[in-house]
Amino acid sequence: MSNTDFALAVEDLTVSFDGFKAIDNLTLYVDKNELRVIIGPNGAGKTTLLDLICGKTKASGGSIKFKNEELTRLDEHIRVRKGIGRKFQTPSIYENLSVFQNLEVSYPTGRSVVGALAFKCTDEVTARVQVVAEEIGLAEVLDKEAGLLSHGQKQWLEIGMLLMQDPELLMLDEPIAGMSARERELTAELLKRICKNRSVIVIEHDMEFVKQIAHKVTVMHQGKILAEGSMETVQADPKVIDVYLGH
Ligand code: ADP
Ligand code: MG
Repeated sequence: MSNTDFALAVEDLTVSFDGFKAIDNLTLYVDKNELRVIIGPNGAGKTTLLDLICGKTKASGGSIKFKNEELTRLDEHIRVRKGIGRKFQTPSIYENLSVFQNLEVSYPTGRSVVGALAFKCTDEVTARVQVVAEEIGLAEVLDKEAGLLSHGQKQWLEIGMLLMQDPELLMLDEPIAGMSARERELTAELLKRICKNRSVIVIEHDMEFVKQIAHKVTVMHQGKILAEGSMETVQADPKVIDVYLGH
């Protein structure tokens, strides 16, 4: 397989914080339309890895290629435009705006000549909001104030805000934390749907949830990859049981 076949190619990536290597010579490939789950103990470097891919943190060494284009030195907002979406642990929705408005304001500008003039074709935006609202299960509550949504619905809205940009890589950090059992089920279905058109990287701790969604699992420990493969393979790996699953 050549590098061009991967959506994301992270090679020999390293970041040091005052000499401490939070990510240590890490190599990871993610396919198009793959749903990859990253697990590992607290402090393993999972969130830092997403920070490096989205550009929030700059690497000390190594390379990050997205569709075979080097990203390592590009700013965060340029990476967004290239198709990388990142959801942080705490939702950042506009509580005082409606669900519709939250999605509407997330519609990207600057993609087309029309967009470059900061003009949004209303019909086009409304149609896109409708599609995304259906996808995240909020089509019935478009007029509701976002602050009044349940915790799970807020998380889905934020995923929807990222989907408005139609990212080719979507990264989610612990998306089901604090969700009810039913909300977790719906989130699993949502993630399985959205990875049909893009690659998705999810950091998660809930192994039942991971089992439901993962195509492949990467286990991180001390800034490195400890194991990688199918859920069955990593679950049976003595190293993984020792540092993570055994606890
Ligand atoms: P995880 O998400 O796997 O729990 P993190 O990526 O948040 O782990 O953290 C990995 C390690 O890097 C931790 O020891 C953390 O304290 C450290 N770290 C993360 N970000 C910074 C930073 N900006 N400055 C210094 N240390 C950091
Ligand atoms: Mg984390």
